[in-house]
Amino acid sequence: MRLSRYFLPTLREDPSEAEVVSHRLMLRAGMIRRLASGIYTWLPFGLRALRKVENIIREEMDRAGAQEILMPLVQPAELWQETGRWGNFGPELLRFKDRREHEFCLGPTHEEVVTDIVRKEVRSYRDLPLILYQIAPKFRDEIRPRFGIMRAREFLMKDAYSFDADEEGLERSYRLMYETYERIFSRCGLRFRAVLADTGAIGGSESHEFMVLAETGEDRLALCEACGYAANVELAEVKRVYAYPEEPERPLEKVPTPGVKSVEEVAEFLGISPQKLVKTLLFRAGKEVVAVLIRGDLELNEVKLRNLLGVPAVEMADAETVERLTGAPVGFAGPVGLSGVRLLADLSVQGLKNFVTGANEADAHYVNVNYGRDFPEPEFYDLSVAQEGDPCPRCGRPLGLTRGIEVGHIFKLGTKYSEAMGATFLDRQGRQRPLIMGCYGIGVGRTVAAAIEQNHDEAGIIFPREIAPFEAVILTLGPESELLEAAEGIYRGLQAEGLEVLWDDRDERPGVKFKDADLIGIPYQVILGKKFKETGRVELKERASGQREELPPEALPARLK
Ligand code: ATP
Ligand code: MG
Ligand code: MG
Ligand code: MG
Repeated sequence: MRLSRYFLPTLREDPSEAEVVSHRLMLRAGMIRRLASGIYTWLPFGLRALRKVENIIREEMDRAGAQEILMPLVQPAELWQETGRWGNFGPELLRFKDRREHEFCLGPTHEEVVTDIVRKEVRSYRDLPLILYQIAPKFRDEIRPRFGIMRAREFLMKDAYSFDADEEGLERSYRLMYETYERIFSRCGLRFRAVLADTGAIGGSESHEFMVLAETGEDRLALCEACGYAANVELAEVKRVYAYPEEPERPLEKVPTPGVKSVEEVAEFLGISPQKLVKTLLFRAGKEVVAVLIRGDLELNEVKLRNLLGVPAVEMADAETVERLTGAPVGFAGPVGLSGVRLLADLSVQGLKNFVTGANEADAHYVNVNYGRDFPEPEFYDLSVAQEGDPCPRCGRPLGLTRGIEVGHIFKLGTKYSEAMGATFLDRQGRQRPLIMGCYGIGVGRTVAAAIEQNHDEAGIIFPREIAPFEAVILTLGPESELLEAAEGIYRGLQAEGLEVLWDDRDERPGVKFKDADLIGIPYQVILGKKFKETGRVELKERASGQREELPPEALPARLK
């Protein structure tokens, strides 16, 4: 591409509308332009970066065996009514009516649509596992669109959905997507971490966010270098507290639950759903459950159970407390389950009593657990207000705090959507069972912005090679035909080698060309100026390191490959 003919409107000045580096640089480098709040056009240069990320995603999803589809942006209200989300998704869901007064929305996510497709077409366990994905626009009427395409209202997302016959299948699909995401973000040249996450409006039992580490990120992360614990601090926030009838404290009571390790394991042992198990325990306790406490040594139980049971499920206490409660030595130690004890404390402050908890020993659960009476005042802290160096909730060693940009999010959905929408299959024994689902999102545009947030300097963008709009830019520093002819030869030669090259053939001063080249961040600059006229050698500047070398033009293709 010749810059003299390329639609690349760069800006000298910082646009006043931009609050973060990536937004500022994307505007200045002529990548995007705003149409309305949170609604952007991708210009040619920006679109090339977007397509690069899209292609990496597509290649890796295809490699994982996922199959690409394309679903409509406009979705009928009926589907959302089936899952109840028409009522409870909130104002991010943009609703409207067509000329026949039928209600529709612009899809903020596609669980309902994909479940509808699959319930009509998938019949048997033989059709499973199945992973479908698309790369398509989403619309969310964000309350505060900002940072350009980082938090837009209309944005491009890769969303994938897995369908499995059982929990083990879901586990495999989830791991596969986890690993695929690691490959995708590594290839994009990003420094990122996968962290434990809350499941929000999407729902489900287990979830990880892929966070690009950046100071300007909106999410706060707790990371433990010692044991690898990594979580979004939101995870520890108690989102739901249920009303609970006034009742007197009851004496602590141990309920036999053979083989118990966690509610799920007991449920599996008894061959009933965890929901039913909890109801049974409650029935025995003669009340409605408001929280379930479980063993603290299974990292994901809290969030899993919270979503699975529809009640706050929290981790059990430290070894000392457990020993005191059970009179039995326990097999683990350390400040486990701080967030659980915190929830218990929170609930108790509101006058809530008589919780059901795991007993942290085989074959038992406690009912009528009362904070303060059965648990001593614990040493806990709130992860969301944690300070650098506070003890890690898992191993107790000093915790690091940092910020991140959420570029990807994977969820185990379980049967939430398939049960609500009747998406079933026939298993080997011919029994009809609900499909077990997972869902997996990546913000494509946000990934481009996050890459810039992480890779830039005073002068501009420093694109990681795999997502750079072009791999090299040729700068001719003068109008002489000698330079232009040589540049044209190099330009064609590099293109013939399959390299993506931009040629700044404009009639501009060298200073302007250097500034623009640094601003737009193409990995290599091939400079033809005075030195070339004297020696016949070109100057090659690497944008990231600023390193320069001189070499004969013939050596360029090999050097740039
Ligand atoms: P956030 O917490 O930033 O609002 P989310 O948790 O609501 O994101 P998900 O429902 O998990 O988003 O969607 C999957 C991915 O889509 C996110 O990980 C993110 O990369 C991207 N995404 C979500 N909202 C936006 C947005 N408003 N603009 C651009 N990308 C977005
Ligand atoms: Mg959101
Ligand atoms: Mg989020
Ligand atoms: Mg998310």
